[in-house]
Amino acid sequence: MMDDCIFCKIAKGVIPCSKIYESQNTLVFLDLMPVNRGHALVIPKEHYETLLDIPEDILKEMSSSVKTAAGAVKEGIGADGLNIMMNNYEAAGQVVPHAHIHIVPRFKGDGLKLWPGGKYKKDEMEKIRKSIIASL
Ligand code: 5GP
Ligand code: ZN
Repeated sequence: MMDDCIFCKIAKGVIPCSKIYESQNTLVFLDLMPVNRGHALVIPKEHYETLLDIPEDILKEMSSSVKTAAGAVKEGIGADGLNIMMNNYEAAGQVVPHAHIHIVPRFKGDGLKLWPGGKYKKDEMEKIRKSIIASL
C-alpha cells in the first residue's frame, strides 16, 4: 500500500467508495466526477502505477472485471454504448497514479467527443510501424 495513494486507501477500505463489484485482486467503483451517470473505475487492489507496470495475471483479472462490470453498467442504467478507456502517464491525462480503467456509459446523442483523427504524412506510417515493431 502506498500511504499517500487515494486508490490504495479505497482498496483497503480506509476511505469509502461506491463499490459495484470486486474480485480477489480487483475492485470496481463509481467515479466521483462521472462523465456520464454510471461511470465506473476498475483498479487492481495492489498499487501499480500504469498499464505497463501491471503483471499479466492481474491484467487478465482486470479485463474480466471490466467485462463483468461494463455489462452490468450497460444493463443497469440502460446505456446505449460503452467506452473503455485508460489514461497512462501524466501526458495522457492520468491524474491518479494508481492504474485504473474507465468504464464510461454512453447514450445516443450524448454529444461526448473523444478525440479528433489526424493524418500521416507520406511514408510516415510505415516508419512509425517499423519503430514500434523494433521495440516489441
Ligand atoms: P484519471 O484522470 O487519472 O484517468 O482519472 C481519475 C479519476 O478518478 C477521475 O475521473 C476522478 O473523478 C476519479 N477520482 C478521483 N478521486 C476519486 C475518489 O476519491 N473517489 C472516486 N470514486 N473517484 C475519484
Ligand atoms: Zn495506489
